[in-house]
Amino acid sequence: MDVVVVGSMGYDAITTPMGAGEDLLGGSATYAGLAAAFGGHDVGVVGVVGRDFKDDDRALLEARGLNLEGLVCSEGSTFRWWGSYEGAMNEATTLRTDLNVLGTFEPRVPEAYRNPSVLLCANLHPAVQAAALDQVDAQRLTMLDSMNLWIETAKDGLLDVLKRVDVVVLNDGEVRSLGEQRTTAAAAAVVRGMLRPDATLIVKRGEHGAYVLHPSGPMVVPGVPSPGLVDPTGCGDSFAGTIAAALARGAGPVGREELRAAVERACVVASFTLSTVGVNGLLAMDEAAMDARRLDLQRLSQ
Ligand code: AMP
Repeated sequence: MDVVVVGSMGYDAITTPMGAGEDLLGGSATYAGLAAAFGGHDVGVVGVVGRDFKDDDRALLEARGLNLEGLVCSEGSTFRWWGSYEGAMNEATTLRTDLNVLGTFEPRVPEAYRNPSVLLCANLHPAVQAAALDQVDAQRLTMLDSMNLWIETAKDGLLDVLKRVDVVVLNDGEVRSLGEQRTTAAAAAVVRGMLRPDATLIVKRGEHGAYVLHPSGPMVVPGVPSPGLVDPTGCGDSFAGTIAAALARGAGPVGREELRAAVERACVVASFTLSTVGVNGLLAMDEAAMDARRLDLQRLSQ
């Protein structure tokens, strides 16, 4: 298996200045898994939904190539998240979270998922991420994403899992909050010190792309200039899923140029995710449109 994603799967209600929607298929594993499976990668999902999870949504995920053997259907309701964005839409404001079946989720990784090339722990409580890390022996690397909620409510657990992975993906607000510094570069240096010595920190900077601390030194990848921002939900997850898939078929330590190409591709994918409310922008993406945006992005830094 190329990538195993452990994360949330559920329904979002989102309001942005450019649009709104309810009962939207969402969750960190949904966005990350769909992005990782793009291009024919073999991707397994570990997560939980309730009895109200729609058959159509399950069918859509399977049609996009996701293996759902690790998606448990439990008695109770599916995870739900209500979020809104204002102004430049850099950060979501969480209006309400109903964890439902996710509140008692103990991941059980199927036998067939135990040795993927890459394990991606998408945004979830750090204790659940730790339980997934205990059960998987990733052949190439492990990745981890998180959110402000866990920095505020489960910091010790988060610090433990940060030390267990090869690549950490956080946004600039999360890095400043965790590193307790005012600038992204200063905070990233502090957060880098919380990781393994050979780990990579990728700081997502919204429209400004990414700031990457690779063991060989820092690098900057620009964002894709996107006039079509409608809803940034899932940008971070689809960004991480794209990097996981891009690195899954390589071997050995991740080189600087290999990582740069993966992060560029992830910035391109995020620019599709933000173009509609929910997953539709991500689903509408194709290789030709991606190539055009990747060229735009490369010209930006020449
Ligand atoms: P992002 O890529 O950061 O925009 O992540 C958006 C997704 O995170 C949404 O589809 C939500 O369903 C999901 N999400 C929001 N809060 C949580 C949480 N506490 N645990 C897990 N997933 C969450």
